[in-house]
Formats: sequence, C-alpha cells, structure tokens
Amino acid sequence: MKHIVSKFGGTSVADIPAMKRCAEIIVSTPGVKIVVVSATAKTTNGLEEFASKSLNAGDEALNLWESIFSRHYEMAKEAGLSQDSLIVMKELFSEGESLSLRINTAGQLSGELMDPVYSLGERMSALIFRAVLENTFRSNGQNKKVSYLNSREVMWTDESFLCANPLKDSIYQALSRQVNLEDETQVYVAEGFIGSTLDGRTTTFGREGSDFSAALYAEAIRASELQIWTDVPGIASADPRLGFPICWIPFLTFDEAESLALAGAKVLFPKTLSPVRSLSIPVFVGSSLDPKRSIGRERLGSYITHLEDCPSRLIAIASDRNAIGLIGHNIALLRDQIEARISKLDFEVRGVEAQSNSIRIVTGLSCDQNEVIRKIHDGLELDKGPFSGI
Ligand code: ASP
Ligand code: MG
Repeated sequence: MKHIVSKFGGTSVADIPAMKRCAEIIVSTPGVKIVVVSATAKTTNGLEEFASKSLNAGDEALNLWESIFSRHYEMAKEAGLSQDSLIVMKELFSEGESLSLRINTAGQLSGELMDPVYSLGERMSALIFRAVLENTFRSNGQNKKVSYLNSREVMWTDESFLCANPLKDSIYQALSRQVNLEDETQVYVAEGFIGSTLDGRTTTFGREGSDFSAALYAEAIRASELQIWTDVPGIASADPRLGFPICWIPFLTFDEAESLALAGAKVLFPKTLSPVRSLSIPVFVGSSLDPKRSIGRERLGSYITHLEDCPSRLIAIASDRNAIGLIGHNIALLRDQIEARISKLDFEVRGVEAQSNSIRIVTGLSCDQNEVIRKIHDGLELDKGPFSGI
C-alpha cells in the first residue's frame, strides 16, 4: 500500500486560497496518509518578535499577538471551523497571553520559553488546515476522515530546546498506536517543526525544521514517498532569486541534495534527508502555487532518490557567506576541467577544495558572490540542464 507524507511550507499555507490549493493537491494524490504543515507565512518571525517584546512592560507584545491571532481567527471562520475547534483556537490565544506574562516575569527569553511560543504558529495552521482539507475531500465527493495528529504527543524529543533531537524509538511506538495505516479513508494533519520532551515540555527542531519533521514522519511510517511542497517548482541550479535564468533539476541523488543544503541552498533544511535516505524513501520537491503543474502527469518538480549509474556531473551552485559550492555527483573527478574553465572567468580564486560531491571555491574578499555565481553559471552553461562532463 502506498503511504505518502506531504509537507506544506509557510507560503503554501499562507491564507485560505493557498490552503485550498494544497488541499486540492492532496485530494488528487492517492495515498497521502500524513500531511505536515508549517505555520502560515511570516507567522514564526512574528512570534519571535512577540516573545522578545514580551520582555518589556507595556502593551506592544500583546497587541502584536492579538494581530497575529486575529488573522488566524478570521481564516478559521472562513474555513468553517466547528464551534469546538474555534474554542480550541481561543484557548491558544489565552496560552499566548500567559506565555507572554511568563517571559516578562522571567526577564529573559530561554529556549524553554521560546519553543511553546513558536508552537502557536503551527498549532493554529494545523487546526485550520484540517478543516480546509476535510471540506475539500467532501466537495470532491471523497469519503475520507481527516484527523488531527498532535505532534506534541508523538514527536518525542530530548530537552535541547530550539534544536531538539528526535527520540526515534518513542516516536515509532507512538505513531504505531496513533496512525492507522490499514484504513485508506483515514488521513492525518500534523504540525511540522514542533515536538515534546517525554515529560510534556514543547520543543522545536530549529527554524525551518518542518521539513525534518515530515522526514521523521515518513521514516516512522515507512512511507513510499516524502513530498515537500513549497513556493518554487523544485531544486534549482542556483538560487532563483538571483535573477538570471536557472534550470530546475529533475533528479538528484541523496548525496547531491545533502551537499547542496550544506553548501547554503535554502530549499531544504540540512538535516531533512537523514531519516529518509537509509530507507531509500524518495523525496519530491515541488510548488503548490501552480496547481496545473502540481498534479498528475504535468507535475513539475525535483526527485531526490538513489540514482543508479549517475554520471560524474555538475548540477548546481550554492553559496554561504564564506565560499561558493559547486555540487554534483562525483564532481571531484571533474575538478581539473572545472578549474580550467573557471580560471577564464575573471574573478579572484583564493582556494579550491574538492570533496566527492562538492567543490568549494573561496573567492577574493572584494568579489561580489552573486556576480561570481552568475559568471560560473553562465560560463559552465548550467542553464542548459544538468550534464555529465564539461
Ligand atoms: N515555521 C517554522 C519556521 O518558519 C518552521 C518551518 O516552517 O519549517 O522556521
Ligand atoms: Mg522551509
């Protein structure tokens, strides 16, 4: 039986129309068992601001919390939440108020106080999304039960607040009790990013950690696929925001995707792949924003899998503050050709280090990194698609 875990990021669930697009994707993808959602776009940043404003006296913190909450409450009403769920929403509002008071009394913002504040974002979006998904199944004539899966009762972690580590055995046990894999009509909606210590204190996996939560869910239920839905149609040969033509990479190996995340590409949280790669669970990354291209055969996106007979190749360029990373399967074997091509590109290279799937180039201090990335991308003709040899 196919069991898919589908994760939707903050921009994918930004508002009700966006949530409806995600729900349509789920409804037309047979086999989705667990849906993992992020907080709505910008909410986690807002909650961070709310927590730090709570250190000060005055109304500023609570005014901010009220505005974040009312935006969600409006969404909840638009989604047609039941009276019971609206009451749960209101309880979240009071929880935010009392957390603010606790932060103010403590006079400092510990991770242990920050994590429950963060959790409010994902808990609100999961509550709303569950209703949107239930309605979408119903309006499509599909008889499915959509249940809320409380990540703070299954994603057990250690006590490393702000960057918790999963307790996998406890997670497996909890999920085997709480998730029905046999009943095809049963679907679950769970929060990404958050978990709990065994004694019930809320934790998080670190900013952008919802991808990791989804991978943990996929590993625990031995999913047939992990889908990461975001606002770009896959993994690109360079950051699409740099403004020059890039290409979307149809297939990547786990090593390539991991090297790319480590080299600074933002599309995947670096730890994401570790739970799924040992079970060879393929990962699909695609955009929820363009429904025509998200469903069925037209589906556009990148697959991360074990690729047999993958040639040595260069597929993408990423950068962190200190260096530029060229990524590709066994790229170290292409080092001489790449260095020869790069030496013609007119920028200062201070060092080159090759590992099997990445070549790290340290540029001169005066180099504009984005400009260098564009030059390498053009010079090595990456937008013609991933290629072997150069
Ligand atoms: N909402 C969290 C964040 O913005 C986690 C995530 O979206 O991955 O960092
Ligand atoms: Mg993300």
